[in-house]
Amino acid sequence: MDCIFCKIIAGEIPAKKIYEDENVLSFLDISPVNYGHALVIPKKHYPDLLSADEATLTELILAIKKIAPALIDSASASSFNLNLNNGEVAGQVVNHLHFHIIPRFADDGLKLWPGGSCDDERLEQLVERVKQLLD
Ligand code: 5GP
Ligand code: ZN
Repeated sequence: MDCIFCKIIAGEIPAKKIYEDENVLSFLDISPVNYGHALVIPKKHYPDLLSADEATLTELILAIKKIAPALIDSASASSFNLNLNNGEVAGQVVNHLHFHIIPRFADDGLKLWPGGSCDDERLEQLVERVKQLLD
């Protein structure tokens, strides 16, 4: 399969691995947003969050809970952002499910997305539609 993360899992291309268990692998991002930027991936290939099964998602989030404090401590960071870009328009470039753990440092200058506003009636329509679909 022509997937760069599957190749890292298979050991075909190198990566700075920081955690590995039976089903999960974590390694440093090759182009880090901040010092210690890491990726956490399932060893089984899923293109994105919605295609993964529940057991995989549970394992991933539990691994993140384990990895994040060690990473933050090792990088002497203060906290972290957990990010997942789901789909091309959201910025997903590698089509193998992955979370980003991005350590944060005081005054690191990274900006979260800006807050906005929206017409209340449109929001009410959205709420009703989502609730219908989830019923
Ligand atoms: P996405 O934009 O898909 O959410 O994030 C993909 C991430 O994978 C990017 O932050 C990018 O720097 C990282 N990345 C892409 N190719 C490689 C690679 O070969 N090795 C490592 N360690 N990270 C990679
Ligand atoms: Zn893959």
